[in-house]
Amino acid sequence: MKFGTKAVHAGVEPDPTTGAIMTPIYQTSTYVQKSPGDHKGFEYSRTQNPTRFALQDSIAALENGKHGLCFASGLASIDAIIKLLSPGDEVISTNDLYGGSYRMFKHVFAKYGIKFHFISMEDSANIERHANENTKLIWIETPTNPMLNIIDIAAAVAIGKKYGALVGVDNTFATPYLQRPLDLGADIVMHSVTKYLGGHSDVVMGALALNDDELNEKLAFIQNATGGICGPQDCFLVLRGIKTLHLRMERHCENGRKVAEYLVNHPKVGKVYWPGLESHTNHDIAKNQMSDFGGMLSFTFKEDDMQESFRVMERFKVFALAESLGGVESMVNHPATMTHASIPKPEREATGLLDSLIRLSVGIEDADDLITDLEQAIG
Ligand SMILES: *Cc1c(COP(=O)(O)O)cnc(C)c1O
Repeated sequence: MKFGTKAVHAGVEPDPTTGAIMTPIYQTSTYVQKSPGDHKGFEYSRTQNPTRFALQDSIAALENGKHGLCFASGLASIDAIIKLLSPGDEVISTNDLYGGSYRMFKHVFAKYGIKFHFISMEDSANIERHANENTKLIWIETPTNPMLNIIDIAAAVAIGKKYGALVGVDNTFATPYLQRPLDLGADIVMHSVTKYLGGHSDVVMGALALNDDELNEKLAFIQNATGGICGPQDCFLVLRGIKTLHLRMERHCENGRKVAEYLVNHPKVGKVYWPGLESHTNHDIAKNQMSDFGGMLSFTFKEDDMQESFRVMERFKVFALAESLGGVESMVNHPATMTHASIPKPEREATGLLDSLIRLSVGIEDADDLITDLEQAIG
């Protein structure tokens, strides 16, 4: 089955009791048993819920994975992965990481004796430089948030195999429509479902997709044992959102290109970070592992003046000034003070995340209106 057909149908079977074409919202905490242990495969909704199962199967299918697991948030799904590890284990991760992932690694899990290396991964040789026999996880985000760096997934997988480390990929920015890390050999794919998979800015959720049965058993055990699950109503909304993922992504990519090209030619704009630009450092790798380049981009001004960036952001009329991304509506964000404030300034600036950097999540509106909005806001 091709992607669009899977987006519409995967995981969703007509409801066995009524034939309802939409998976019902099984808003129930428990299931009645005939006799202790004699039940229909459903005991308690932390462990099993039919609406969640349908969504998990849908996301697994989109990623070409065997198993899917959904969680209360993107961060809860990463939290489950880190709980596979033990004190003394080491994680290699990128220095341009979603701020919340960085905060969890550094301020929650480091004190349990797990060692995190935050390194530049644009050159995969640098990953190998930090690998050793204690490396148990290589944690990648590509494209990264907010610098849109591209990391070579297949190269990281080769290093992971050599050292016996799992390779996990945060695929939030690309979505399975543009990039499927399991096909490139990654062990686990993670999503902040909150963003493109949900797509309508109305749900906070996370998901994992994977192939290995044993690893799935371990992660499903953690999902149930630590309880970071999502509710059935949210699963229903995301099942609905996913049905148009392929259509939305096409428009996000098309609009992303138009906005990137507009900004590149703007006299006040300094750097534009969008992997579809030939000037992007790892454009060739992006071209290899992605089918298009998405709707996320960041840019700076020639003068790195935070106050001027603030004034620009206040002037937007169509772009909404908000944290989050991946919704149908265009959004603008100031990473240094909003999504990435938990990363210390020297570490931020080492990755190019300057105070003037503005991140855009280009939505699916008409591109002309978005360009007009940028024109009046930047001046
Ligand atoms: C938003 C985001 C997360 C965190 O997901 P939540 O659903 O907000 O917990 C993780 N990674 C990336 C790349 C994100 O954009």
